[in-house]
Amino acid sequence: MKQSALTVPFVDLSWQHQPIQDDIQSALTAILNQGDFVMGQAVKQFESAFAEASGTQYGIGVGCGTDAIALGLTACGIGEGDEVLLPANTFVATLIGVLRSGATPIFVDCDRETALIDLTAAEAAITSRTRAIVPVHLYGQMVSPNELKTLATKHSLLIFEDAAQAHLAERDGIRAGAIGTAAAFSFYPSKNLGALGDGGMVLTQQALVAQTLRSLRNYGAVRKYFHTEPGGTNSRLDTLQAAVLKIKLPLLLGWNQARNRIAQHYDRQLFALKEFGISPIRNQSGTGHAYHLYVIRVTIDCPVDRTALQLTLQQRQIQTGIHYPVPCHLQPAFQFLNYLPGSFPVSETLSQEILSLPMYPGMTLEQADWVVSAISDAIHQSPILEKTAALH
Ligand SMILES: *Cc1c(COP(=O)(O)O)cnc(C)c1O
Repeated sequence: MKQSALTVPFVDLSWQHQPIQDDIQSALTAILNQGDFVMGQAVKQFESAFAEASGTQYGIGVGCGTDAIALGLTACGIGEGDEVLLPANTFVATLIGVLRSGATPIFVDCDRETALIDLTAAEAAITSRTRAIVPVHLYGQMVSPNELKTLATKHSLLIFEDAAQAHLAERDGIRAGAIGTAAAFSFYPSKNLGALGDGGMVLTQQALVAQTLRSLRNYGAVRKYFHTEPGGTNSRLDTLQAAVLKIKLPLLLGWNQARNRIAQHYDRQLFALKEFGISPIRNQSGTGHAYHLYVIRVTIDCPVDRTALQLTLQQRQIQTGIHYPVPCHLQPAFQFLNYLPGSFPVSETLSQEILSLPMYPGMTLEQADWVVSAISDAIHQSPILEKTAALH
């Protein structure tokens, strides 16, 4: 018998907010009474709590993840004349952050199975001007801390993690944000830990980097009306947002575990479609994966192409996404960096193959089954498959 129809949104935040709605409301009311809207008490409290949960010393709240990358790199002393390695297949904000620091972005291709930056390719791209590497823990899977540290030590590189998709992810016994000199996080609503608007944070182990950042986010002032940092700007985490994030933080590990349960279920159910060219992005980091996204590859061996598959799923009320359809080096805005199509073949192929399936902690396994059966139906109803079957 056919399952009754289910709707599967790509992300659903209401399940997350419903149980904590009263807590959020009283926290917001308290701030309304206190009036400490900018750099208030809740900001300091959440900065300490998030730094501690991630295994780092300092947390500096900023306006968004992009600012966390730009200001974070600046605080680490990265700027004009420095080359910074980053993956070509990342959200464009990684690139924008590097560019805003004044450094020269140097793209690196990724691994086909994990979609993470290829560290062998990164090593090959190192020159005498390379100062830093910005590994992106894409989809919530951390780039191997051990391999990163080996590479960084060998070539005296600074590690600045883009951990915007990997809050409280863990690998080799290290949490995201605790691998290198500093790391950037985003609290955009749909991230694993999301605010009710924009927000971001830099985590660091170094007191000096933390001190510089506190000044950079606050007009470059070390104290009121005394400005020492020319790169200063206005980029602070709102007190209201910090208060909400503080309420959510204790729930985050449980949410990440729920994501893992759904991912493992997807893995098991999708295995039957491997012979039809459906191949999930490989998890090499076990349950420490934060599964911000669950991404499959719809390879050339699949009898339905990605666009058709996405459309079929859409018709069955299943929302999917593509993260990301155009690699950074091929974005029209960045043609001035002079990269041509073919520069990063793995990233370019992946951008044609990847499909992000619905994934959020409140999703049920029945919904995951519904997604998988819709993919299976699309494959088995493909005219190409019927033609091949007829030949046998
Ligand atoms: C979301 C995201 C950012 C940017 O964060 P914002 O808060 O949206 O500025 C940076 N890098 C990656 C990988 C992201 O996913």
